[in-house]
Amino acid sequence: TDTQNQLVLDKVNVFYGASHILFDMSFGVRKGRTLALLGRNGAGKTTTMKAIMGVTPVRSGSIHYGDDRLNGRQPHTVARHGIGLVPEDRQIFPQHTVDDNLRIAAKPGPDGQTDWTIDTIYDAFPILAGMRGRKAGMMSGGEQQLLSMARCLMGNPDLILLDEPSEGLAPIIVQEIGRLIRSLRSTGVTIILAEQNMHFCLGLSEDAVVIDKGQIVYVGTIQELRANQEITNRYLAI
Ligand code: ATP
Repeated sequence: TDTQNQLVLDKVNVFYGASHILFDMSFGVRKGRTLALLGRNGAGKTTTMKAIMGVTPVRSGSIHYGDDRLNGRQPHTVARHGIGLVPEDRQIFPQHTVDDNLRIAAKPGPDGQTDWTIDTIYDAFPILAGMRGRKAGMMSGGEQQLLSMARCLMGNPDLILLDEPSEGLAPIIVQEIGRLIRSLRSTGVTIILAEQNMHFCLGLSEDAVVIDKGQIVYVGTIQELRANQEITNRYLAI
């Protein structure tokens, strides 16, 4: 029920100019769970995450985080509530070192928690520990993706929005990202994982929402989704 939901979108509508992009989008994410937000290229996954984060305005409907209404708030305010976004384009500072990229982002979480510090990050991300003096712009796409995830964690969020973390990356890094998501889950953090690839999400999420052209076409468990060939064939690229 709704009382267990940490984040609730209720009939959210988003426009870019005159283009209607998200249509009455409603779903909830339960505390400590991972929800796979699935859909093809252009379905509206990034827009949904930007709407939650306050980067993109919501025309109508509401987004609640616990008792707090998020829509209408600035991204930094949403972040202060404990929500962290790992954007698709990563948005690291290319001229800064790995270490600086991480230190700039250091913040206690909304309840003052400081589980993630530069030291615990380097323990969890040994690849980054070995590159701490390197300019971020000189790293591979996969390494930058790890840095972007690590930087988000430096803000000690309770809810993490991961926008297509596996996209375009080599299988070995995709595996590493899967391993990280699994270990994050064990810390009790809530995750929304936007992906085109259902298979990547199979061992990583309990719940799934499928969107198509800005509308929800499936809400349920990922195991039921996996067995539902009508939905997977119709709305997910293989
Ligand atoms: P992707 O895999 O490309 O990230 P997505 O599911 O995240 O796909 P969105 O990026 O949210 O999809 O895009 C949803 C729709 O909104 C698409 O039709 C896209 O063309 C459109 N769109 C995205 N950004 C803008 C913008 N700034 N102005 C106008 N239309 C946009």
